[in-house]
Amino acid sequence: MSEKEKSENNANSSVFHTNSRRQVLTGVAVGAAALATNRSIHAMPEHVENKSVPPLKNPMSLYPTPPFSKQPQPWPGLQSKMQPVPDCGEKTYQGSGRLKGRHALVTGGDSGIGRAAAIAFAREGADVAINYLPQEEPDAKEVIDLIQKAGRKAVALPGDIRNEDFCKKLVADALAKLGQIDILAHVAGRQKYSEQLTDITTEEFDWTMKTNLYALFWITKAAIPHLPPGSSIITTSSLVSYMPPEILVDYGMSKAGISNFTKSMAKQLLPKGIRVNCVDPGPFWTPLQICGAQPQSAIPNFGGESPFKRPGQPAEIAPLYVTLASTESSYVTGQSWGIVGGTGQPG
Ligand code: NAD
Ligand code: MG
Repeated sequence: MSEKEKSENNANSSVFHTNSRRQVLTGVAVGAAALATNRSIHAMPEHVENKSVPPLKNPMSLYPTPPFSKQPQPWPGLQSKMQPVPDCGEKTYQGSGRLKGRHALVTGGDSGIGRAAAIAFAREGADVAINYLPQEEPDAKEVIDLIQKAGRKAVALPGDIRNEDFCKKLVADALAKLGQIDILAHVAGRQKYSEQLTDITTEEFDWTMKTNLYALFWITKAAIPHLPPGSSIITTSSLVSYMPPEILVDYGMSKAGISNFTKSMAKQLLPKGIRVNCVDPGPFWTPLQICGAQPQSAIPNFGGESPFKRPGQPAEIAPLYVTLASTESSYVTGQSWGIVGGTGQPG
């Protein structure tokens, strides 16, 4: 590294030692702009221009901490309207070719955890198709743009996964546009709290099960015949699969089902060379949480009860999706992987 590059690097690193995340990101942008002016000959994808050394900082204060403001949005919500906006690694995730030449279908890829996974997959070299609901188009457009800026093919496949025919079409369209699917990341989910079981209508129960379990069944079933050996299926369950709170009975049941599905399917698909693993997030700052997953009264201290005293940001879980998708994890299947913030199961 030249003396000039060293001093630029140090300047960027020191920016991260400010307390405000906003200041941090502004500082990175300024640093990146300075670098960009010196690199006009070799045009690089934008995320490479923005690259910065991750901060060496206490993880408890790396991201926003409670209190947060109450912020109801009509379901399914837009993360671009959240305060603070979730960090899905847009300005920070740096790939190193771990998924070069791969083809990923990510449900719930517009926002939150799915968005962070989609961005990371693209920056690791995969072409990526995302599914989301039509109401989420503004969030989805940003993700499509970020995938393209990573130099990868981006495919937008909006539609409601509560419908079996749509699930079949989703897989068919992803195959047609990507040429192949070898990473299938099920991230879409529905969480709606109810104080009492007697408050849950059959329609509400059905909504949760259709989104979290039927869609998992339909999409996986449609994809299996097309998944080549070496493929990876990643499901998204939750800490509540093991530690269900009293206000999330139907959601907890569905997440336990996802964890269980992961284990049986891992056994069934290993002879075909397909691995299946499950990610169990703890509290993450995403639209789902402010759109009815919790009472609004729980939002100000969301994540505050974690040992970290803050919720996770989607950028902090995306690397696990990459690891499980990657051939580096060739001996890894049928397992649940928790990023729950230092408490509970699994891990
Ligand atoms: P999110 O709101 O950003 O993502 C959920 C996504 O699900 C939405 O963006 C939407 O596109 C998709 N979706 C919901 N219903 C759909 C439908 N009928 N058709 C098509 N798409 C639909 O929130 P998130 O927290 O990133 O959620 C991602 C996953 O993580 C979910 O499975 C959720 O249960 C799980 N999870 C989240 C947390 C957390 O604290 N945020 C904790 C544990 C597990
Ligand atoms: Mg969304």
